Amino acid sequence: MTDRIRDFLRDRRPEGPCLVVDLDVVRENFQAFARALPDTRVFYAVKANPAPEILNLLASAGSSFDCASIPEIEMVLATGATADRISFGNTIKKERDIARAFQMGVRLLAVDSVEEVEKVARAAPGAKVFCRILCDGAGAEWPLSRKFGCVPEMAITVLEHAHRLGLDAYGLSFHVGSQQANTQAWDAALASTSAIFRTLSDRGIQLRMVNMGGGFPAKYLKKVPVVQAYAKSINESLRRHFGNRIPETIIEPGRGMVGDAGVIKAEVVLISRKAEEDQVRWVYLDIGKFGGLAETMDEAIRYPIRTEHDGDEKAPCVLAGPTCDSADVLYEKTPYELPVSLSIGDEVLIEGTGAYTTTYAAVAFNGFAPLKSYVI
Ligand SMILES: *Cc1c(COP(=O)(O)O)cnc(C)c1O
Repeated sequence: MTDRIRDFLRDRRPEGPCLVVDLDVVRENFQAFARALPDTRVFYAVKANPAPEILNLLASAGSSFDCASIPEIEMVLATGATADRISFGNTIKKERDIARAFQMGVRLLAVDSVEEVEKVARAAPGAKVFCRILCDGAGAEWPLSRKFGCVPEMAITVLEHAHRLGLDAYGLSFHVGSQQANTQAWDAALASTSAIFRTLSDRGIQLRMVNMGGGFPAKYLKKVPVVQAYAKSINESLRRHFGNRIPETIIEPGRGMVGDAGVIKAEVVLISRKAEEDQVRWVYLDIGKFGGLAETMDEAIRYPIRTEHDGDEKAPCVLAGPTCDSADVLYEKTPYELPVSLSIGDEVLIEGTGAYTTTYAAVAFNGFAPLKSYVI
């Protein structure tokens, strides 16, 4: 929570649940990444929060952008950033979208299969491609394991195929899993990428780039290491595995760039029990899984929640959203400690909600409006 967000909520008193993002925090986060990894280009993962104000700020700060779709590419171009600052990082693209991106000037694309390489070779001839390798996501609170990437042996085949079809076999990428608490998590993937670099070099293909993805954490309830600790560990791994031939590097922070820049203001709608003798209260908020808090799925992300009674005695609650879907429960397996003095109508502040909230909100499930957002 920053003073600017506190002042905004006090002065504007916005009605209904809403996200407020402080651009000063986004700017500081960008500078922290740029300073900690001065030889690495930062590609902000647009999907974390594509608010135009955030994209404009990052564009003028010098960031590049990781986009997953044509609309995301259009949003980035609308800031005035040129297409050479865009990576089309989704490994699952329609061929006509590849062609459209190519037409718009995008020359850097992700692949993880021979089938996708075929599409890129036809629709974006000569473009630079990097192949994503699988990562197990161990240590991450929001692992992205199986869906993207291929095993290292297959990455060799994929990049050789790209080279054969006239594409520029440019490098490799991986993602260690989102909200990665282990600063060493990049090491195994970097070892694997350096082995692929050597194998392909022996076959006459010189890769030049390693895209080290996102995974940098936002601050939720648990303490997390600072960006400098990640940078130190990553630099050590780069030196260990690439010696004095360190390739170009890219990172794609999403959560770590905007997560802790946002706070959601919400309201307690009901506090009740299921039986007189129940110890655990049910607390229903006016925001839930369908209003933007989808990352509470499996209780993966545990947001810090502030109330006006935080000094008071606390007791465990089941926390739930307002919709008529029984999946709309945020924390139940591990109940959430909230003040016993919390009452219906109280405001609560959900911190660390700048990433993966507004775009995860349903359009109007049960008639609840999508999450409103103010970027200040
Ligand atoms: C989502 C995504 C990111 C951002 O990950 P964070 O953990 O939020 O930093 C980066 N790269 C790719 C390819 C992604 O899909």
